[in-house]
Amino acid sequence: MINFFLGNTKKYFLIIALINVLSGLTVPLNIFLIQRIIDTAVVSGKSGFGNDFTYILFYLGLQIVTVLLAQSDKLLRTIFGNTLEINWGKDILEKSAKVQYKYFEQTKSYETIHRILSGFKENITGITDITSSVTKITISMFGVFYFIMQTEWWIFIALLITTFPVWLFSIISTLRERDTYTEIYPYFLRANYLSKMINSRESIKEVRLYNFFKHINKLWSEVLSKFQRGQLLSNLKPRYIAGAFIFLQYFVVTVIIFMLVYPLRKGLMTIGVFVALAQAMWNYVGNFQYEIINIIQKINHLRVFAKDYKTFMALDENSSALCGGDANNINFTSIEFKDVWFRYDDSSEYVLKGVNFSISNNELIALVGLNGSGKTTIIKLLLGLLHPTKGDVLVDGMPVSDIQVTKRKKIFSVIFQDFAKYNISLRENIALSNLDFINNEKEMIRILNSLTNQAELVQNLKDGFDTSLGKDIDGGTDLSGGQWQTVAIARALFSDSSCIVMDEPTAAIDPIAEVEVYNQLISAAKNKAAVFVTHRLGSTRLAHTIYTLDKGIIVEKGSHEELMERNGIYAEMFNTQKRWYEK
Ligand code: ADP
Repeated sequence: MINFFLGNTKKYFLIIALINVLSGLTVPLNIFLIQRIIDTAVVSGKSGFGNDFTYILFYLGLQIVTVLLAQSDKLLRTIFGNTLEINWGKDILEKSAKVQYKYFEQTKSYETIHRILSGFKENITGITDITSSVTKITISMFGVFYFIMQTEWWIFIALLITTFPVWLFSIISTLRERDTYTEIYPYFLRANYLSKMINSRESIKEVRLYNFFKHINKLWSEVLSKFQRGQLLSNLKPRYIAGAFIFLQYFVVTVIIFMLVYPLRKGLMTIGVFVALAQAMWNYVGNFQYEIINIIQKINHLRVFAKDYKTFMALDENSSALCGGDANNINFTSIEFKDVWFRYDDSSEYVLKGVNFSISNNELIALVGLNGSGKTTIIKLLLGLLHPTKGDVLVDGMPVSDIQVTKRKKIFSVIFQDFAKYNISLRENIALSNLDFINNEKEMIRILNSLTNQAELVQNLKDGFDTSLGKDIDGGTDLSGGQWQTVAIARALFSDSSCIVMDEPTAAIDPIAEVEVYNQLISAAKNKAAVFVTHRLGSTRLAHTIYTLDKGIIVEKGSHEELMERNGIYAEMFNTQKRWYEK
């Protein structure tokens, strides 16, 4: 457990613990010095060095040491936290890059991944807080208890008996709180989403135009208050009970102080001891108990986080993710879908039902069908992002998911409908698919030129290829939708893969412009295989083979002419869309 949390930061942990042992000692020392200051002043009746002055100077020195220790603790905790953040962050980000893509599609595992990524900073602060609080409190408590036992041992017993219920109910309340937290986390995620919906750059134009801010704002506050109420209710009752026991302790302490008045009056107890004992008891009930409740809460947060973290770390990885290996052989003879059935883990229905087809190394394939017929799912399986529930997706006889990532990226490049608009330089935007050639501007210009002379795009940017794109960066240049699309296409072409996959990247432009883009793409990708998904059929004439999908089944296969002759679903779709292409 300790190794799991601390890794190679044990030295910081030990120094912080040491500082807090010293900090802990200052508390009973304070009480002791107060007793001495009062008693020497009262007993000797005169002030001076060797009497109460010495103790007062000691007291001053102790305050200075306390401040120094607190500051060092703060500084070291920051360094400790930063180091933990980098260590853990690296592991967490590497793991999230390796886990199978399907977990991002499943609600439960996505929630776990989200909780880990968004909660690990808070838990790191938790670890540093616990390290210093536990050491400090343990030492000061023992010190204070020792002082009390030396003077009036029965007070120690009374405090101990009234302490256990406080700790017990704190543990119960905090256990409940975190279990409920996991249950109500979906509300938190939803609230985050809704807040982003009215604040993000993508949606802000529609928010202004349709003025739906109030509606979403209402939904957001409803969902968030469900989350908050859940959090509050989960620990309210046991927390009140713990609070009631703290009050009981205050009452007990008050009674004890009344009881001490008698020996004080009789001269059986010095004023110094009386004041010091009272301070020790108030300290214990007031500060320590609340601190201990906080520690219990933080330890429990860590317990739940560790559980999540274990689940996260145990998520299956792509067998070949991030592996090295021979990536030179980028050619393939054929890719084959062999009786592929697929069902998303969240649902019981198959979205692909016995899909069979193959792609040879210079073939152009079009997948067509209505929305929801399973086209994108086929693409995710083709790229090895998802694995078939039954059947196989094979590249030259090898399951695609077993192919090393370095090699897989040489085989496939892809442009999705919701292609990414990376807020980094144009050079990086294009070269992300093949970073070894990030300085090959000649190739970038060649590719951009092949896409309707888009090299102009670079000339118009103030720093050429090094211009930062997007509005998220200060001084960044935003591009038009079409220009972003060009950049995404250029990225796919730059990877020099042997098969280009296009999942409706042109859905945002008009049908005639779409045909033009496909024309350019296909001529730029000469001698390569290409798979393109579309529900608009103007570009399908370019394909060697067209597959029509209907509810997860391939119902037609052939060239455009063959399918038109067949007069089935494809022909019907084509005839409906014909007028889009009439000039
Ligand atoms: P298309 O690309 O043809 O529009 P998809 O492959 O995106 O179709 O979707 C096929 C079916 O799978 C649809 O019924 C859709 O609702 C369902 N589906 C898609 N993604 C998921 C997911 N992550 N979880 C559950 N069902 C999904």
